[in-house]
Amino acid sequence: MGADERYARFLRERREEILGRIAEAAARAGRDSDEIEAIAVSKTVGPDEVLLARRAGWRLFGENRPQELGRKLEALGQLPEMADARFDMIGNLQKNKINQVIGRVALIHSISSAHLAEAVSSRSAQRGLVSNVLLEVNVSGEASKSGFAPDELRACVEGVVSLPGIRVLGLMTMAPAGSADAARRTFSGLRELAEELRARTGLALGTLSCGMSDDFQIAVEEGSTLVRLGRCVFDQGYALS
Ligand SMILES: *Cc1c(COP(=O)(O)O)cnc(C)c1O
Repeated sequence: MGADERYARFLRERREEILGRIAEAAARAGRDSDEIEAIAVSKTVGPDEVLLARRAGWRLFGENRPQELGRKLEALGQLPEMADARFDMIGNLQKNKINQVIGRVALIHSISSAHLAEAVSSRSAQRGLVSNVLLEVNVSGEASKSGFAPDELRACVEGVVSLPGIRVLGLMTMAPAGSADAARRTFSGLRELAEELRARTGLALGTLSCGMSDDFQIAVEEGSTLVRLGRCVFDQGYALS
């Protein structure tokens, strides 16, 4: 068996393990696992690996740099096998890169300020687009993390959700690394904030993007509807817990 075949087999087997873990975590929380989607974060691999991952069953992909997103779309966009694949932007978005992203991704997870929301709104409206977005919240309050502070979002949410050119589908967060308890508090905090903002805005805000390789099972227990998985999908050296 060649290296490509071995890697393809790893991708298939690992995907089954991951989907099994998601189903188990959903069952522990009394949730229907159909309401949880998983994104394969392809930022560290090339187009060839993305194609192998598509063949292994992954359909949703996440990228964190506009230039790399463009490279992947150029290499893969015309392939029939990728016709129903979807790419999301999950990383920090600089204002001068917005035009490289809107219209090319299904969802922007990382709207981290009112300023950025306004910029994506106006660029999208100019082009006659409506961009699906999530508002990134710094639930844990770590200085190193981007996103709205919860109070800041409470103060501006009505204005943000009424902007033209964007459709706010929910919230996104990243948990502190290394502590299961802190991760759990972060994810439950995101869910509670979404409930509060749902009541306030009347929007469904049904998408909660949270959970990565190290903490996605906790995220599913706490209400995540969209987990973003990089290392555990693509890295053969990553041991799934
Ligand atoms: C890289 C990345 C992920 C995936 O992280 P892993 O720990 O590799 O699963 C998820 N979300 C964002 C925003 C990322 O940048």
